[in-house]
Amino acid sequence: MSETTFMSVPRDKISWHPTIDYEKCNFCMECATFCPHRVFEQREGDRRLVVANPNNCVVFCRACSKTCGPDALSFPDKQATIAQIRQIREQESVQ
Ligand code: SF4
Ligand code: SF4
Repeated sequence: MSETTFMSVPRDKISWHPTIDYEKCNFCMECATFCPHRVFEQREGDRRLVVANPNNCVVFCRACSKTCGPDALSFPDKQATIAQIRQIREQESVQ
């Protein structure tokens, strides 16, 4: 588990990471090759690519989606994530 923080919030409380649409993914592995943070892992079986380390994803990065021809990667809404971070910070400041 990562011990890092983002904007003073523990990274594992922030739900920012890619989601793979398996209806679109062709398992070209361009995204996994591109990302230097080991977010993706190759596996055996039907789902040959998984988001194995979501908390390794850099918050607000979407760079790997540009490598995906079939547009199979999606991310949370940025403004909603900013609101989530603010809410966590407010909760932690009143404790
Ligand atoms: S968004 Fe950035 S950090 Fe996250 S998996 Fe893609 S390339 Fe890696
Ligand atoms: S780049 Fe897109 S199509 Fe290729 S493995 Fe990644 S998610 Fe699947």
